Amino acid sequence: MSASNIPLSVPLLKGNEWKYVKDCLDSGWVSSVGGYVTRFEDAVKKYLGMSHAVACVNGTSALHIALLAVGVIPGDEVIVPALTFVAPANAVRYAGAHPVFMDAEAVYWQMDAAKLQDFCARQCDVQQGRLVNRQTGRTVRAIVPVDVLGHPCDMDAIMGIARQYGLKVVEDNAESLGSRYKEHPTGKRADMTCLSFNGNKIITAGGGGMVVTDNSALAERARYLSTQAKDDPIEYIHHEIGYNARLTGVQAAMGLAQLELLDGYVEKKRAIAKRYDEAFRNVPGLSIPSQAPWARSSYWLYTIMIDGQAYGKESRALLKTLESQGIQSRPLWHPLHQLKPFCDCMAYQVEVAIALYQRCLSLPSSVGLTEEDQERVIKAVRL
Ligand SMILES: *Cc1c(COP(=O)(O)O)cnc(C)c1O
Repeated sequence: MSASNIPLSVPLLKGNEWKYVKDCLDSGWVSSVGGYVTRFEDAVKKYLGMSHAVACVNGTSALHIALLAVGVIPGDEVIVPALTFVAPANAVRYAGAHPVFMDAEAVYWQMDAAKLQDFCARQCDVQQGRLVNRQTGRTVRAIVPVDVLGHPCDMDAIMGIARQYGLKVVEDNAESLGSRYKEHPTGKRADMTCLSFNGNKIITAGGGGMVVTDNSALAERARYLSTQAKDDPIEYIHHEIGYNARLTGVQAAMGLAQLELLDGYVEKKRAIAKRYDEAFRNVPGLSIPSQAPWARSSYWLYTIMIDGQAYGKESRALLKTLESQGIQSRPLWHPLHQLKPFCDCMAYQVEVAIALYQRCLSLPSSVGLTEEDQERVIKAVRL
């Protein structure tokens, strides 16, 4: 008899999801209008300790709306990590701007603040208060730091550079909801922060996203742009191109129920990470993920780094071994600057991201992963 498959990351719907979704349907307010969208926004604001939240149809759309709200215009450049899911780079293109890919640092795998500083200081000039990329002649408008795999990037360092050079910051917290940076939930320091409630995230609304901020003007702008930029709701006057990017009530009802479970889910993920850490700490050729002194990571996806020579097997060979035992694992994302849609974009000294892509593997990290299943994964990895 073959054991059941162990997926990488699947949702756990064990709270008030059915109750709230049924209530939403019973009320008839299933679209973006009605109580659940506001309730979900209010609950997220409260959880994060932020003043404003605008629910969006998904995390990618939240990034697009936030980039527009902070003032990214066609022809601008926006600094994006080379090592991340493609969504932030796509959102930059939706805004008509060009991503500039920044390397990851080797310890925590987040955007390298030293290289970022270097890029601004050596590769750009300040002209009339704007940062201009000397090679392309384009205005560098914003940075999108991503909390990769749930580990917060060093936002104080990144914000310092952004303020020095007049850059806007849109933080991508799609993977780090529930994580903390220093004393606050992640996302507190940026101009705007984006969340995702996709099915593989720590909590899900089936699909969904949100923009959060402490800046009321930016929040108003995001709300306006995400609701078709309606200037007169009676006469249907629109002064700008808007987007239909709002979340629906049914999804918000599910998201609200999931949010009630978030703190418990973070503890589950951290317990999974602790067991993996203990099992892999002394295995030759395996590196466990490091947690920075400023970080309390949600360990959204637990990821190991493999030195093929010392371990006896490269990352992709381990992936195949695990697959043959019904265990799903996944490499990190292909470095974005090497992908076809972005190969003309500038990449600044990207080296670490390429090595991490070759050597890392994410292991099953579902909130509902049982200790028996995790033991199977551990045995398979330890050979
Ligand atoms: C999942 C994810 C997104 C996109 O969210 P969707 O809701 O799927 O559009 C954006 N950025 C990162 C880093 C992600 O992991």
